[in-house]
Amino acid sequence: MSSILQKYGEVIGFPAMDGLMAIADRLRGKKIVHVNSTKAGGGVAEILLSMVPLSRELGLDVSWEVIEGDEAFFACTKTLHNSLQGMSGGLSDLQGEAYMETNRRNAERLRPILEEADYVFIHDPQPAALLNLMPERKGKWVWRCHIDVSAPNRSVWRFVKKQVEGYDASIFSLPDFAQPLPHPQYLITPSIDPLSEKNITLSRAEVVRTCEDLGVPLDKPMILQVSRFDHFKDPLGVIESYRIAKEHVDIRLVLAGGGATDDPEAGEVLERVREAAAGDPDISVLLLPSDAHRTINALQTASDVVMQKSTKEGFGLTVSEGMWKKKPVIGGDVGGIRLQIINRFNGFRVRSPEGAAIRIRYLLTHRWKRERMGVNARQYVLENFLITGQLRNYLSLLISLDGGEGQWERWI
Ligand code: UDP
Repeated sequence: MSSILQKYGEVIGFPAMDGLMAIADRLRGKKIVHVNSTKAGGGVAEILLSMVPLSRELGLDVSWEVIEGDEAFFACTKTLHNSLQGMSGGLSDLQGEAYMETNRRNAERLRPILEEADYVFIHDPQPAALLNLMPERKGKWVWRCHIDVSAPNRSVWRFVKKQVEGYDASIFSLPDFAQPLPHPQYLITPSIDPLSEKNITLSRAEVVRTCEDLGVPLDKPMILQVSRFDHFKDPLGVIESYRIAKEHVDIRLVLAGGGATDDPEAGEVLERVREAAAGDPDISVLLLPSDAHRTINALQTASDVVMQKSTKEGFGLTVSEGMWKKKPVIGGDVGGIRLQIINRFNGFRVRSPEGAAIRIRYLLTHRWKRERMGVNARQYVLENFLITGQLRNYLSLLISLDGGEGQWERWI
């Protein structure tokens, strides 16, 4: 066992590690390709950044391709993303054409790799049309949907459905997200990497130094939300919660985030957040580069309460990241956050800024409870949301697509 696998074994236990290695052995020599729409920013890139090297460490032939698109394409896919998560509005004919044209161009570029691959994972709707553009494909193709499609705009879902119904299988994060499709649908939850820069244990000195460098004093309890500046992450709702809670407890709020290269709306949301925070010296709005993993780790470690007050959430890796650092997380009662936060056991699920404020106040005035919930939170992530478990489920799925028996945690 390599020294890296040894380190994972120390976290998850060696029997679990042996199981993962045995499954990986059965896929040796097979070409596996992941395709998504950005190398940096957002949860999909975060997962692939860990999953691809771990897969290679296990001896698998894995590559990661990113589709290239222009502004018009990413404006269109953002509309697609928003509409699939239930926002009103649909795709115009022009946007539909921009989507198809970009997929056609990427299909030409990626054809040699994708047609030869034994297994292809296509992540989210942006590159989903690639399948229909590969009539000579040899391998099995899986559509991995990371977003909350429980109540999509119907016309947009019909458009996406045309692109994904030909896949051999699809994967969703929650049963609620599954849609009528003519192929098997699997449930596999996303995960975090305990050995990544984002999640390793940092020294207290590094945490303090990072906060100093960012201009965030550690003089008051810190409430933190890390996320892209996106409407569905509800940063304005977080500011409102903070303001209500601050009438009772003296706190500091940090909103840290950046953009993703496939997210054209971030600038506008950031502007609104800055306006809402203006004039309050206890709110820090931090725009971070996409590789600021250690910085985010330090902020999560320094915080007293982590928030993820999303109004729609496919999963919300930031929830597990906070929990891994023994923080009780206050999260919106939606989507994948419901899988991670067991109310009152390892955090709180909330439905309004007022509800979030009550929980902030409670956690900051009940230190023992806060610490207990933090311990529960870490254990819950250890048992359910680590990258090794997600990879095991992906590999088992591939084996079962070829008719072999897999090992399932859950499936529809
Ligand atoms: N993230 C980051 N920098 C940022 C904002 C977010 O590295 O400025 C990371 C965050 O730590 C998490 C991922 O990006 O690992 C976001 O995943 P999540 O599932 O929470 O949300 P998504 O952006 O995919 O909707």
